[in-house]
Amino acid sequence: MALKSPGRPGRSHFLRKPLLPMSRQLASEPHHLRELPHARELLPALAADCRAGRLALFLDFDGTLAPIAAHPRLARLDAGLRRVLAELAARVPVAVVSGRAASDVRRLVGIDEIFVAGSHGFEIAGPGGLVHDEGAPFAAELDAAQAELERAVRGLPGVWVERKPYAIAVHFRDAPEAVAARIEEPVREVARSRPALLLRGGKKVFELRPAKDWDKGRAVLWLLDRVAPREARAVFLGDDVTDEDAFLRLRECGIGIVVGEEERPTFAGYRLRDTREVRAFLTALLEGCRERRPEAASGP
Ligand SMILES: [Mg+2]
Repeated sequence: MALKSPGRPGRSHFLRKPLLPMSRQLASEPHHLRELPHARELLPALAADCRAGRLALFLDFDGTLAPIAAHPRLARLDAGLRRVLAELAARVPVAVVSGRAASDVRRLVGIDEIFVAGSHGFEIAGPGGLVHDEGAPFAAELDAAQAELERAVRGLPGVWVERKPYAIAVHFRDAPEAVAARIEEPVREVARSRPALLLRGGKKVFELRPAKDWDKGRAVLWLLDRVAPREARAVFLGDDVTDEDAFLRLRECGIGIVVGEEERPTFAGYRLRDTREVRAFLTALLEGCRERRPEAASGP
């Protein structure tokens, strides 16, 4: 897919065409996850958008494309889903937006045509030499915080510190309850002493990252401006609290689909239950996109 010139000024997303029956998307209040309609309702409209090349897909990785693994190193993308993603990426822009390093996402996904926004959007890369780096000014501060965090959790069973290019994660999914309860205060202490960094919580993880008004949602809008046609509908699938930034930013120019079953507030407009439903949804979208429809016929 040909790139538009990177670096041109952003355009207003308010000018994009109105959405489907989507009063939900415009509400300023979050919704209850379990009350959202199932995303299968969107398939006919999204397949038509895909056939017309008016779609851009943004996908979280862990918990969305691949099941959450016991260790980030163990996550794998299903081979069948990789083929589906590759075929979709040949038709419309597809980006994987993740808290992982961009290089890690690239390795796990293994599709050259896909755009990658790693480190919660701080590193963006894609075909055609597309590169954008929002995190470089924070590297030294992250180095110092990494050393402090490693000291703070040293010796605690099931707790480990993972350095990403523009974030530091303290994982505790393998820690006993009593240990998990003891790590929050020292992590908060490190965060308090470094105002250039921001503490966020996720699923069994604390994460320090640059305190900059930049997140998965900003990365999605940045990509949308550069790699998708003006009239494209953006669809974001994600399962984690950090994906809410994208759901929020997309309320006026796209569709958020939250993956999960737990009852919590969300800015998404639709839901899927788990990674298996994500795979089925994307597979059905591709099948709908391949269908020849009368509207696609050309000439008499
Ligand atoms: Mg996730």
